[in-house]
Amino acid sequence: MTLMSGYPESYYTATAVGARECAPLEGARSADVCVIGGGFTGLSAALNLAERGLDVVLLEAERIGFGASGRCGGLIGSGQRMEVTDAEKMFGFERSRLLWDFAEEAKAEIKGRVEKHDIPCDLQRGQLLGIHKKGYLGHARELADVLAERYDYPFCAALNAEETRARVATNDFLEGLYDSEALSIHPLNFTLGLARAALEQGVRIYENSRVIKYSHTDPAIVETDKGSVKAPFVVLACNGYLGDLEPRVAGKMMPINNFMIATESLGESRARALIDGRYGVHDTRFVVDYFRLSEDHRLLFGGGENYRAGFPRDIARFVRPYMLKLFPQLKDVAIDYAWGGTLAVTVNRMPHIGKLSPNVFFGQGYSGHGISTATFAGKVIAEAVTGTASRFDVMADFPIHRFPGGTLLRYPGMVLGMLYYTIRDRL
Ligand SMILES: Cc1cc2nc3c(=O)[nH]c(=O)nc-3n(C[C@H](O)[C@H](O)[C@H](O)COP(=O)(O)OP(=O)(O)OC[C@H]3O[C@@H](n4cnc5c(N)ncnc54)[C@H](O)[C@@H]3O)c2cc1C
Repeated sequence: MTLMSGYPESYYTATAVGARECAPLEGARSADVCVIGGGFTGLSAALNLAERGLDVVLLEAERIGFGASGRCGGLIGSGQRMEVTDAEKMFGFERSRLLWDFAEEAKAEIKGRVEKHDIPCDLQRGQLLGIHKKGYLGHARELADVLAERYDYPFCAALNAEETRARVATNDFLEGLYDSEALSIHPLNFTLGLARAALEQGVRIYENSRVIKYSHTDPAIVETDKGSVKAPFVVLACNGYLGDLEPRVAGKMMPINNFMIATESLGESRARALIDGRYGVHDTRFVVDYFRLSEDHRLLFGGGENYRAGFPRDIARFVRPYMLKLFPQLKDVAIDYAWGGTLAVTVNRMPHIGKLSPNVFFGQGYSGHGISTATFAGKVIAEAVTGTASRFDVMADFPIHRFPGGTLLRYPGMVLGMLYYTIRDRL
């Protein structure tokens, strides 16, 4: 097996740094905690637990970062997936402010991890939100003001059409909001860096070790086809790849597929004419377009989703029209890489963090905002396992409803919902 075998081909695997191969689990082991899933949630939980002195085994069905964490857009926005104005309406100002503060801590956690473990993941600052429709005009100014006045966050600047176009060469954006303290990373390299840190902290990581079942006992017995782990605590961190391992949480999230492409290198001057920096960009569409420039001057562009098992046969062909809608000037540009991944969304787009029993914890459903939120979820789960549950309890207290129809009928409902939002986006 080569270091990157077992991963889907992507720009990220082609530029991966620091992958290590971990053997599959064989035989019976025991640990204080068994973490299931090797993405941001699982690795962050494992690393934080090991730093608190616990003996941790992490089981990953495929390779570390095989899931959404190693395939995603790399944009780390400020706040939660739900905007503060919506969160205030739903939960009131105080809880909205608490959520905002958690999200700021989550960003700080990412920066802190990159620095502490010297993770080579191309950490960049800044993010621009492009307002794509007339009905949202004024939204950027309103949000910048609310954040500055009520959230002590003076780092967002509202941009008019001309200022926005000067930064991103598209006619699609009518206004913009530039957040100078948002971040972006090479997500697979960040994931591999967390894994390296976890290994160095003593976490035993087993790859190609799919958990097939675990007992609802204390201690729990977690089983793969070739081995088992006996542990007083279990952390479920499988997100969109959960499958039918745990039906009690499966119905509260929906796995959806999202897709990305990487163009050939545009060369420095053409790349800079497209976007005037290495920050991330996303727009106000319900199915968000998101993009940024890579270190080697490619456009990394995400757009388009589907709501069934399986990806389109030709992902490049599926995503390219989304890119050309924003950047028709790129029609001569070749696509070098195309890939997809599965994320999990919840009904209200709030993360779903909680406990299934006193010894089984889970984090999932970050709804496209998982880099910082999942990393933070792993940390608060580790805090809760070790007896400090104050932040965990706040996160676990947010109501997450089941998808209508549960795991069987959630997809038809989602397709209808998406049709509605697609039409709304165009009006
Ligand atoms: C294309 C795409 C673009 C995205 N863009 C962004 C973005 O720009 N910004 C952002 O913040 N978020 C983004 N997201 C969302 C973000 O990637 C996820 O929210 C985040 O990675 C979730 O991390 P996780 O660790 O919970 O799950 P994952 O990274 O999916 O990890 C779950 C792991 O569990 C493993 N697993 C599953 N079942 C088992 C089992 N039975 N036994 C053992 N292991 C198991 C899987 O193999 C997988 O590796 C995007 C997602 C996708 C797919």
